[in-house]
Amino acid sequence: MTAVQSSAEDRGNLAGGFGSRLVRPSLLAVYVVAVVALYLTLTVDGIVRTDFQAVDLCTFGALLACGAVCIEVSRRLGMPAGVARDLLSAWWLPVALLLPPVYALLIPIPMQALLQIRVRRTLLYRRVLVASAFGLAGVCASTLFHRVVPDPLQSPPTWVVEVYPGVPVAVGCAVLFTVINTALVAVAAHAADPKGRWRDVLWTRETLLLDVVDLCVGVIVAIISALSLTLLALALPPVVLLQRSLMHQQLQAAARTDAKTGLLNAAAWQREAGTELARAERTNEPLALLLIDIDHFKRVNDTHGHLVGDQVLAGVATTLCGQLRDYDVVGRFGGEEFVVLLPGADIVEACRVAERLRSRVRRLTVPAEEGTVGVTISVGVSLLRTHGHDLIELLAAADLALYRAKQSGRDRVCLPALDDPPPPTRPPAGPPLDHRS
Ligand code: GH3
Ligand code: MG
Ligand code: MG
Repeated sequence: MTAVQSSAEDRGNLAGGFGSRLVRPSLLAVYVVAVVALYLTLTVDGIVRTDFQAVDLCTFGALLACGAVCIEVSRRLGMPAGVARDLLSAWWLPVALLLPPVYALLIPIPMQALLQIRVRRTLLYRRVLVASAFGLAGVCASTLFHRVVPDPLQSPPTWVVEVYPGVPVAVGCAVLFTVINTALVAVAAHAADPKGRWRDVLWTRETLLLDVVDLCVGVIVAIISALSLTLLALALPPVVLLQRSLMHQQLQAAARTDAKTGLLNAAAWQREAGTELARAERTNEPLALLLIDIDHFKRVNDTHGHLVGDQVLAGVATTLCGQLRDYDVVGRFGGEEFVVLLPGADIVEACRVAERLRSRVRRLTVPAEEGTVGVTISVGVSLLRTHGHDLIELLAAADLALYRAKQSGRDRVCLPALDDPPPPTRPPAGPPLDHRS
C-alpha cells in the first residue's frame, strides 16, 4: 500500500515525540541500571582502560564538534515531529571504536542534550532512554573492538594500515552497535505500543538501508579519524550534505503523512490516486474505490475521551494497512473517514476486500480505562467506468454508497444504487479536488 506508515512509526520516533504514547518509565530504569552495571563490571574486572588521555579527549572533542555541526544543520532545516532519522551514528560509532568504552557511554549525553535544546523539546525520559540505548550499544561495541585492537589510536594505526583483522572487526562491531541499539529502542517502542508490529519497530526496508549507510559512514569516519584528526575536516562536508538530504527526504515524507495514523493525508492520497486512476483509464484495467467511515465514532470520544479516540483511529488505520496490498492507495480523508483505491479490482474483488476490512475492524479492540473499545465501519464502494470516470465522480458515488450503508443500519458494505437521489447530508470529506488530477 502507498501508506507511509512505516516511516511514521519509525523507531527513531521514540526520541521525537510520536503521538502521545508513553514509553514505560520502568523500562527506562532498567536501561539506565544496565548501562551503569555493565560499565562497573567492565572497569572492576579491568577489562577496559578507564584513564583519561589527552589524545582520547581531543578525538572525543573533535567528533563531538562534528556531531554538533550536524545537529545545527537539522535545526536550520526545522526538523518537525515525525522526522526522526539522522546520521549522528557517523560520529558516535568512531567514538565507540577508537576510544575507551567510557566515551561511548558519555557521548550520547551531550548529543541528546543538544538535540533537546537546539532541535526539538520532547519528553526528557525519552531522551534518557535513547541515550542509554546508545550508551549500552556503544559500550558493548567498544569493549569488543578494544579486545581485538587494544590501542586503535596508536600511530600509525596498524588496524587501518594492515586492514586485517582491524577493519572487518570494526564493521562487525558497528553491526553489533546497530543491532543492540535497534533492539533496545524497539523493546521500548513495543512497550509503548504493544499492539504494534515488531517488524515496524525493528527494521523496515527503509530503516535498514539507513542503518547500512549510517554504519558505513561511521566506519569510514573512524578510519579517517584514526589516520589523522585533521582529515575530519574533509569528512564533515559530505556527511553534512548526506544529513541534509536525509532530512529533506523525511520532511517530504512527513508532508505526505497524516501524523495520527501514519497513512497518506488527503492531499497526498488525491495525488497518488489520480496517478493510479489515469493509469487504469489508459490501460483499460478495472479499479475500485472504497470510502470507509467509522460508525458512531463520536460516542467513542464522548465515552472514552479523545485520546482513546485517536488510538482507535490509529488501530483502524493499522488494520486497514495490514489487509491491503502494497500497491493499494490508502489514506485518511478526514476525521474518522478513510479512503482506499484498489487498482485492478473489479466489483467482486472490491466487495470481497471491503468485507474483509469490515470484519477485521470489527475484531479490533483498543484498551481504555473501562475495559476495551471496539468499533465497526461502514463502507461505500464505487467502480471506475461503472460509477464514474474521475476521482470526483468515484468519490461522490462511494459517498452515496456509504450513505446507503449508514441508512440501512451501519457495519456493512454497499454499492451505490444508480437511481438513488444524491445524499442530503454533505459532500465527500477531504480537500477540494482538482478536476485535472
Ligand atoms: P456515523 O456513524 O453517522 O458516522 O456517526 P459518527 O459519530 O461516527 O459521525 P459524526 O460525524 O457525528 O462524528 C464524527 C466524530 O469524529 C466527531 C469528531 O469529534 C470526531 N473526530 C474527528 N476527527 C477526530 C480526531 O482526529 N480524533 C478524535 N479522537 N476524534 C475525531
Ligand atoms: Mg464521518
Ligand atoms: Mg462516522
